[in-house]
Amino acid sequence: MSGTEMIIYCDGRYVGKEDATTSIFDHGFLYGDGVFEGIRAYSRCVFRLKEHIDRVFESANTIMLDIGITREEMTEIVLETSRRNNLDDAYIRLVVSRGVGDLGLDPLKCPKPSIFCIVGSIVLYPEETYTQGLKVQTASTRRNIPAALNPRVKSLNYLNNIMAKIEATRAGVMEAIMLTQEGYVCECTGDNIFLIKNGRLLTPPAYIGILQGVTRDAVIELAQKDGIAVQETLFTLHDVYTADECFLTGTAAELIPVIEADGRRISEGAPGPVFKRLLQKFRDLAKTDGETY
Ligand code: PMP
Repeated sequence: MSGTEMIIYCDGRYVGKEDATTSIFDHGFLYGDGVFEGIRAYSRCVFRLKEHIDRVFESANTIMLDIGITREEMTEIVLETSRRNNLDDAYIRLVVSRGVGDLGLDPLKCPKPSIFCIVGSIVLYPEETYTQGLKVQTASTRRNIPAALNPRVKSLNYLNNIMAKIEATRAGVMEAIMLTQEGYVCECTGDNIFLIKNGRLLTPPAYIGILQGVTRDAVIELAQKDGIAVQETLFTLHDVYTADECFLTGTAAELIPVIEADGRRISEGAPGPVFKRLLQKFRDLAKTDGETY
C-alpha cells in the first residue's frame, strides 16, 4: 500500500511536507552541526533499527550533542512516522541537529536540538546496475582524517563525501573510491567497500576512518555464517584492481557489484558468484531482521 500525503516528524509534531520547516538559525543549516541516519524499511519491517538508533546516539555523544530524548522514544518516532506514511517499503531519514542558536559557532547557544524524521523512498542506483555492475573512479579528495572529524560520526557535514561525489559525476561514474591520507582504500562517498580475493572477503577496518555501515556489519555476519573467511584489513588500489570480485554496501544501495575501477576490469566485467549469493542472503535477512510497524 502507498500513502497519499507525506507525513514528517518535525520537532514534536507530525506535519505535512509544506509545514516541515526549520529556522535558518538552526546550526544544522548554518554549520552542518548535527547527526543523521539513513534507514530502510522492507515490508513494514525497519531493518536493524536498533543499530541505527545506537549509531545516531553514538555519533551525537562524540560531538557532545545531547539528543534530549531516550533511545526508546527515538525508536518510537521512527516507527510512528513510518506507520503514518503507510508505506510497505521506505527509506527513512532521521536527523538531529544542534538546534537553533545565533550566528556564532558556540553550541551552548543552542538550547534544544531539532529532531526530524522523513519517511520517503530512494533509488540510488538504476536497477540494471545490480545485474550489470557499477563502474567506479578513485577520487583525489581523501576521506576525512579521523583525528580531524572521525568518519565514524555520521555527521551532517558531508562536504568531504560531496567533493568526491562531484569528482565521480564529472568522471561519468556513479560512485567514487575514497582513500585514507596514507593512500589505503577507505570507503566510497556513501557506501562501504568489499573485495573477494581467493575466497576471502576483505573490507577496511573501522579504525582507518570509515563509517561503520549497518549493511557492512550485516554482510560480514552473513559471510561468516556462510563459511566465508572475513578479514577486516588495510588494502590498496592494486588489491581492488586485482580482486576476484568487488562490491559496495549501504542502506540505500544494499549490495551493489563493481565491475570496473579506474578503467580496470574486475570479475570479468560481470557480478561475481559470491556477490550474488550474499545479495540474496541479505535480501532474505532484510525482510525479517528489524522492528515492524
Ligand atoms: N559510508 C558512508 C560514507 C555512508 O554515508 C554510508 C551510508 N550511506 C555508508 C558507508 C553505508 O552505511 P550503512 O550501511 O549504515 O548505510
